[in-house]
Amino acid sequence: MALLLGLAVAGLLLAWLLRVASAQLLQRDAEHTALAWAELASAAVEDLEPLLNGAPLSDAARRDLLRHRRVQEVFRFKLFDRTGQPVLVSDDLDRPTAAAPQRNSIGHGNTTVRDLVLHGHPVIELRQGTDASRPAVYSEAYVPILRQGRVIGVVEVYVDQTERARRIRSAFGLVAGAVFTLLGLLGAGLAGWWLQRLRLARQDEARERYLAHHDVLSGLLNRTSFNAALDEAAWRQGGGGPGFALLCVDLHRFKEVNDAQGHDAGDEVLRQVGERLRALVRQGDRVARLASDEFAILLSGGATPEVVSTLAQRVITALGEPFMLSGASVVSGCSIGAAIFGVDAATPDELLHKADLALTRAKDIGCGGFSFYDATLDKRLDDRRQLAGDLRAAIGTPQLCLHYQPLFSGNGHQLDGYEALLRWSHPVRGPVSPAEFIPLAEETGLIEALGHWVLRTACATAAGWPAGLSVAVNLSPAQFRRDDLVDEVAKALADAGLPAERLELEITESLLMGNTEPVMRMLGELADMGVRIAMDDFGTGYSSLAYLWRFPFHKVKIDRAFTQHLASDPKVQLIVRSIISLAHSLAIRVNGEGVETAAQLHMLHAQGCDEFQGFLLGQPAPADALTHLQPGGTEPAQRGERVQATTSAR
Ligand code: C2E
Ligand code: CA
Ligand code: CA
Repeated sequence: MALLLGLAVAGLLLAWLLRVASAQLLQRDAEHTALAWAELASAAVEDLEPLLNGAPLSDAARRDLLRHRRVQEVFRFKLFDRTGQPVLVSDDLDRPTAAAPQRNSIGHGNTTVRDLVLHGHPVIELRQGTDASRPAVYSEAYVPILRQGRVIGVVEVYVDQTERARRIRSAFGLVAGAVFTLLGLLGAGLAGWWLQRLRLARQDEARERYLAHHDVLSGLLNRTSFNAALDEAAWRQGGGGPGFALLCVDLHRFKEVNDAQGHDAGDEVLRQVGERLRALVRQGDRVARLASDEFAILLSGGATPEVVSTLAQRVITALGEPFMLSGASVVSGCSIGAAIFGVDAATPDELLHKADLALTRAKDIGCGGFSFYDATLDKRLDDRRQLAGDLRAAIGTPQLCLHYQPLFSGNGHQLDGYEALLRWSHPVRGPVSPAEFIPLAEETGLIEALGHWVLRTACATAAGWPAGLSVAVNLSPAQFRRDDLVDEVAKALADAGLPAERLELEITESLLMGNTEPVMRMLGELADMGVRIAMDDFGTGYSSLAYLWRFPFHKVKIDRAFTQHLASDPKVQLIVRSIISLAHSLAIRVNGEGVETAAQLHMLHAQGCDEFQGFLLGQPAPADALTHLQPGGTEPAQRGERVQATTSAR
């Protein structure tokens, strides 16, 4: 707009300039012609000076003036005397008498013009002919008539400039045309440049908008815009009717591809997944990549379970096809969880959550790769997930603490130490059993942090006990996955100032069933430090006996299931006796767990069991409730110091 305005102003300015220049040229031309005429007349017309001084027009003067009346473009002239008074007009030359009609003085009485001319300065007036008697364009040029440098009079020469004006106009027309063409070209160029800039800015804007809403790698929607699409679909759904559905798709073996073939291969797989998913959905459906290998499909309105299942099966088939990468083909596959809006969920967030639960189930239970949200089954998963979150938050807070259950030897009267048992007091659910939250911690990886805390707390607490008492700490197989377990134990002991001999670590058979080589090495290093290793829950696994000779355990703990049936089942008595004799022959001490009755204690003792643990002898209790007394409050055990009666002794 400003550009056009500028061009218009430039055009007007140019037209005005050309007009002024054209007028100046014409004036100069008229002046030149008039001066030439005056010079010629002064030289060639006899009796000119007497005529100008008031003498009557002589025949010679008339003849000469008639000859000069039409010279070049001059078509008329008027002579004035030195005072500016009119003397003769060329028209008078045609009249027989010399009597001149009344004439105007110079400049029609304009004294400025008269003074200027009489002082030797030409004055030019450009005129336009208004009737046929005058040329279309002419000038009236007043110039002095000089003779030997003196002003002897003034002549007003009428110069016909019609032709000249036409030529000037056409020349200027050409110039103006050229300038306008140039300006036009410049304007067009500027406009083109401006439009181009505008187009680029729009492209940048569009690109930014695209990046804000899409996953660059796959070209699918990103999480933000997918959430917006869900919100919009929910809003449209409003009043009810068959809802839309959400399918959460989780790619299989993506991490393996990434690790084994590199990130470029991983990216290529994701791109191809994006293409395949896009090709499967209808117009109006939305596909997004929510996280590294997690995708989601919003199946627009009218999503019945049949429609959803059909799409899910097609996705499973499509993503089950090999992905062709440069030089290799990769097979992946996927799991899918789906939920229907209006049926399974009332809000987009809930829908996402439900589809995600269904996906977890599809992965966990292996429902042929696809699962619908199912309220009853998924509630358990949901609870577990919730619990895992709560457990993560509980670490490092007073919600988690250790209780200690006493271990007795002799005939059940000698306190050897305590087993540390983790307790979780959930702010809403109350006490949660370790049998429930320990496996959860193992699944979620929280066991590392938990185990670390248990180890350090138990060592620190035991360091405050009388020197003869030891502490037993349960170790989960997951803790052996870390290479630095041995260092961690050493550091816990050092920081607590507890001798290694006072720490016992309880492990289970499942630890030895997996990757035994590094585990054996770690157990060996721990034993070398002086830490004792106990096999917990002995007899509940499959090949318990096979492990006994693999590692020089210091203790086996007979599972409380045996203790429970000891009095009632002779076969159990036989098994327990065999375990004890086998352990003893390998110089391994035996602990009988879960002693609840005096009869059980008696039988275990009779069969040679070395150590006893159970509610009969002492319940697990917080550290500050321990009094280190023997059961029943009898005299303390020896070991060179006074040992108090244990808690909750029955
Ligand atoms: P566990 O190592 O076999 O621990 C003994 C369990 O038997 C404890 O249950 C204890 O309270 C219970 N108990 C002791 N005496 C009796 C009895 O006379 N009768 C009966 N019915 N039960 C008795 P708790 O504390 O619920 O622990 C369950 C399991 O959780 C433990 O079994 C252990 O495997 C695991 N656990 C507990 N604390 C930790 C820990 O700090 N780390 C690891 N990795 N596991 C732990
Ligand atoms: Ca144990
Ligand atoms: Ca046990």
